[in-house]
Order: sequence, then C-alpha cells, then structure tokens
Amino acid sequence: MLTFTEQDQAYPRKRTAEDRAKDFLEIYERFTTQAGEMQASRCSQCGIPFCQSGCPLKNNIPDWLLLAAEGRMEEAYQVSTATSTLPEVCGRICPQDRLCEGACVIEQSGHGAVTIGSVETFIAETAWDQGWVKPLDAAPETGLSVGIIGSGPAGLAAAERLRERGHKIVVYEREDRAGGLLIYGIPNFKLDKHVVTRRVERLKQGGVEFRLNFEVGKDANLAGLRAKHDAVLIATGTYKARQLTCPGSGGQGLIAALDYLTTSNRLGLGDEVEAFDTGHLNAAGKRVVVIGGGDTAMDCVRTALRQGAKAVTCLYRRDRANMPGSAREVAHAEEEGAVFEWLAAPAAILGDAQHATGVRAQRMRLGLPDPQGRRRPEAIDGQTFDVQADMVIAALGFEAEDLVDQFQAPTLPVSKWGTLKADPFTGATAMDGVFGAGDIVRGASLVVWAIRDGQEAAKAIHNYLIDQSHKAQQSTQLEGVEA
Ligand SMILES: Cc1cc2nc3c(=O)[nH]c(=O)nc-3n(C[C@H](O)[C@H](O)[C@H](O)COP(=O)(O)OP(=O)(O)OC[C@H]3O[C@@H](n4cnc5c(N)ncnc54)[C@H](O)[C@@H]3O)c2cc1C
Ligand code: SF4
Repeated sequence: MLTFTEQDQAYPRKRTAEDRAKDFLEIYERFTTQAGEMQASRCSQCGIPFCQSGCPLKNNIPDWLLLAAEGRMEEAYQVSTATSTLPEVCGRICPQDRLCEGACVIEQSGHGAVTIGSVETFIAETAWDQGWVKPLDAAPETGLSVGIIGSGPAGLAAAERLRERGHKIVVYEREDRAGGLLIYGIPNFKLDKHVVTRRVERLKQGGVEFRLNFEVGKDANLAGLRAKHDAVLIATGTYKARQLTCPGSGGQGLIAALDYLTTSNRLGLGDEVEAFDTGHLNAAGKRVVVIGGGDTAMDCVRTALRQGAKAVTCLYRRDRANMPGSAREVAHAEEEGAVFEWLAAPAAILGDAQHATGVRAQRMRLGLPDPQGRRRPEAIDGQTFDVQADMVIAALGFEAEDLVDQFQAPTLPVSKWGTLKADPFTGATAMDGVFGAGDIVRGASLVVWAIRDGQEAAKAIHNYLIDQSHKAQQSTQLEGVEA
C-alpha cells in the first residue's frame, strides 16, 4: 500500500472520441488485473478514512482497496457488497469527484485520488466473471409481505435486503422493464443495460416478484396495496419535467429530455419506437440544441452526437464552474464534439407550433450568491444571439408527480415540492406501514443516494414488521388467557 508516491493515478483505458461516436458502448474499458491491483495499492489506509465519509453508502473503501491490492478479490467483493447492492453500477456512474474520490486524502495532497470507482467496478466485474456473485440467499419465509412501488435503484435495493430477511416481496412497476432510470434514463455509454438486467434476474431467481406494466394509481390505489401487504415502500422517483416558460416553449418542436433518452434506450434494447422512425426523436443529420447543465443534459448531448447529429450545442445559464452536472461528463461531451455556450439562457424557442428552428439565447453574467451560496445568473441587457437548430431538447430537471392525486391517498404526507415526507434515516412516513425511499423523498438526486435510502428503509421496514408481528402474537396470547 501507500504506493501513491511511485504510482501515478490512472483510470481504465478510455476509447477514443472518434471510436465512441460510432456506437453506444461504454466508453471505459476495465482495469487489467495488474492495473487494478496497482491502483488499489495507492491507498494510504488513513486512520480516519475520509473517502468513506464522502460515500453516501459509507462503503468500507480502504478495506476493499487493501484486499484488491493483495489480490484477495473474492474477499474484496464480499466487503464491497456488504454495504452496497449495486457496486458495479456505482463504480461506473457515481460522480466520484464530488463524493469518495473528492474526499480522498491523496487527492488533497496533490497526488491525484485513488481511482476508487474504477477499482469498485473492477472488483465487482471480476466477481461476476468468477461466479462469486451468488444467488440471493433468503432466510426462511416469515410469512410477511412488502409491496414496493417502483423498481429503480431504491426499490431494487430495498427488495434485495428485505428478501434476504425472508419476507415476500412484490415490486410494482408501471414500465415494461424493471430498473427505473438505470434502464430508461441513463444511456448505455455510461451504464450498459446488461449490468442492470443481470441484477434484476438475480432478484427474480431469489424469489422477488415483479409485476410489470402495473401502475399504482391506475391498476390499484395506495390503500388497496396497503391492505394487501404488511408494509408498502414508495420508491417512484421524480418524473415531472421542469418546464421552460419563454415564448415558443409550448410548441411541439421542443422535446422533453426523458422522451428523447427513453427512446434511445428502447432502441438499444431492441424495441421499435415510431417517434424515432418518423425522425421526431432522431438527431441524425440535425443541428441540435440542448438546454440545461445537469447530467441529463450531458446525456442528451452525447446521445445526439452518437445518433449522427450535424452539430450539438449546449446552452447553460451559469458558467462551467457552477454547473450542476459532473465535470467529467462535460469533458467527455467536449471530447466528443459538443459546443458549450456558457452564461446563455433561452429567451425564446424559434419556429412554429410544430417545429423548432432555433433558440434565441440571452447572454447572462453571475451576480450575488443566492441563500444556498450559488451565484445568481443575471441577464445582460440587450445581449441576445440566435442558435439555429433542427431539434431543441429541454433538460431542466425533474420534480415529483402529484402522488396524493395519483395514488388517491388524501392523507399521504407530501412537502410543498410534492416530494414524499419521510424520516431521512428510516424512510418512515406518518402513514402506518408506509415508507419512502429515493428521489421521491429527496428530490431528483443520485443513484448512490437511492441505494442508501432503499437499504435503510429495508432495515426500518424489517423492524416494523417484526414489531407488528410481536404485537399480534401478544394480543393473541392475551385473548387466549382471557378466554
Ligand atoms: C438522464 C439521467 C441521467 C442520470 N445520470 C446519473 C448518473 O450518471 N449518476 C447518478 O448517480 N445519477 C444519475 N441520475 C439520477 C438517478 O438516475 C436517480 O437519482 C435514481 O435513478 C433515483 O432512483 P429511484 O429508485 O428513486 O427512482 P427511479 O430510478 O426514477 O425509479 C422509479 C421507478 O418507479 C416507477 N414508477 C413511478 N411511478 C409509478 C407508479 N405510479 N406505479 C408503478 N411504478 C411507478 C418508475 O417507472 C421507475 O421505474 C440520472 C438521472 C437521469 C434522468
Ligand atoms: S458508491 Fe459511489 S461514492 Fe461510494 S465508494 Fe462507490 S463510487 Fe465512491
């Protein structure tokens, strides 16, 4: 260990931008055994591991780095999976620069962080290759059941941890495939779909039941599900796209980011999508403008480039340093040919009701910080410019849908933003036996937080179920005594 003074920081080999533009395959290769062990050995095994504090799952990072450096890969996998149900997913798509790697002491010392995420992927993929990822081992059946609404990372994490404890689990999912945004949001070049589907298969084989094409609110309401199960977990994510309000934004020509990305992901999964065939959601040969500065915007930019767009421009109202998306994703997009217009906000969508022909952009500057400390963008009077386009995509983020109305649950506690009000540590809501996890509780966030919430909610649900069954036993015994 402690080789960081001799070994330079290295990521797995990245495919060239030219090569990447031709397909939707992941852009990083995997570490070779030698490179993975070498990079793991850079860890300084700090007494207080700051990387662990930077990880929402509190992964035992120094332990699995040490084991990997010593070539004890199976043990490294056991340690890594003890705290995470989807280590190979987080290793690929966590914004590590803002989490574990950002907190790494070696990064602070100027030597470049241990490439923790890449080593995490290397360990988990080796485990899959070697057959160390065992079938889900459920405890004896408890006879208690949990209904989970939503099969994104929060729902999948909770399903796994609750099934391990012997509870019957039914996952209700309105889409035709399980996985949530891991399947229909995040593109293949960041996360290949087989990485998700093999985890879903493992859960199915372990006894988790998936009811696909089942929309809570249409096929059942919340009260109906609660009556059917001993507890219910709501893990439905956030799907209401934030709307642009400038002139022209109501036209058909403005495309919602998730419609665009879902279409591309469906094509990758072998589905036929009419809106792609008609050209409406196909960027081939077009000049594309993407509005927004988060991960969703970057995914749209990079998808359009792979579909063969003639030019792709991203408009964002703040500057590069203040954008919400991962800096690494912006760098990838630039390498692949995207043009960024920083400090540019949409002032109008040009075109008619059916087609967008461009965006009029307002030049901005950064003013005083807002209460969260982010500098507010301010318009510079009289400075606008037009960007011509054949396709305009809005990627402004997501909010919660109206759960109370959708679930016909007037007493379901929601915040003023529409998110589910739940205890931040246990996910318990004020409704007896109803819990929440993931984006629907915290607002649009990250996969790693959804997994953390799902795992914590599973613990709380298990305790609730045991507590309820003790109470039921006691009251049966009392009835027996009284009789
Ligand atoms: C384009 C895009 C790119 C992203 N990139 C990254 C990234 O690189 N790294 C990262 O960490 N995070 C990323 N995120 C964020 C991340 O995907 C989410 O934070 C995470 O998926 C939230 O997990 P979840 O389980 O709470 O919800 P979701 O993944 O949204 O899953 C919710 C599930 O509930 C289902 N559902 C909703 N309502 C109902 C209902 N009424 N009945 C039945 N089922 C229902 C939905 O169909 C869905 O399958 C990205 C998000 C987007 C949109
Ligand atoms: S889960 Fe994410 S934050 Fe935690 S160690 Fe893995 S890559 Fe880092």
